[in-house]
Amino acid sequence: MLKILAEKLIRHLAPQSCLLCLTKVTGALPVCHLCEKNLPWLEHYCQHCGYHFIGETSLSICGQCSKNTSPISCFYGLWHYQDPIDQWIQQIKYHHQLIPSAICSEYMLRKIPGWYSNRQLPEALIPMPLHSDRLVERGYNQAIEIARPLAKVLQRPLLLHDCKRSQYTKPQATLPAPLRQKNVKDAFTIKDNFHFKHVAIVDDVYTSGSTVTALCQSLRKNGTKTIDIWCCARAQLTHRFIPVSS
Ligand SMILES: [Zn+2]
Ligand SMILES: [Zn+2]
Repeated sequence: MLKILAEKLIRHLAPQSCLLCLTKVTGALPVCHLCEKNLPWLEHYCQHCGYHFIGETSLSICGQCSKNTSPISCFYGLWHYQDPIDQWIQQIKYHHQLIPSAICSEYMLRKIPGWYSNRQLPEALIPMPLHSDRLVERGYNQAIEIARPLAKVLQRPLLLHDCKRSQYTKPQATLPAPLRQKNVKDAFTIKDNFHFKHVAIVDDVYTSGSTVTALCQSLRKNGTKTIDIWCCARAQLTHRFIPVSS
């Protein structure tokens, strides 16, 4: 699993010092062992939405998800959206930086065998689509950059044209949470002959989940049975509910 494209890309591009503390690194990634250990790993979270459980608990589903039927089968995430991950994501998203993108892909590849120890891998990967107008504005889709090495290593098709963002929605970050769901409702169209029953949606950040939920609902209407989310960072909304026992 380690000899992968993302890693080769990092070796090619990266200086052999830790991106975070500048000490010399001997491993494949430009993050030293201590800094890696101190990354804000997402460890115990809701299996549908990634909500982080605080303290000792046996919960696997948060209060909100236990009340509603989530269209997400399993959520998998790497980190909290905190320093330095927020900076890496900004670098990927707005500056098309390849090293943080490859680091995200590599750590995801290291986690996937554990995530799927008892489950089948998805049949195909869907990078969260951008509307074509936004794609033109930005020049690239960061979710595709993160997903591409995963699809190569896992030998799964990367679906770039099967799900289209059909509405030009306002950037979710500019909206308060209650308006986010409304903003993306029916925002996606799925190709007529789409036949995959188990897919993973790859995204950089999951915040309110409104966009992912809208895509999941469109896929489910189209007959997809199992939809997993692979996301680099989970941003926690500050006014979120307190999880209850399920
Ligand atoms: Zn370091
Ligand atoms: Zn949840």
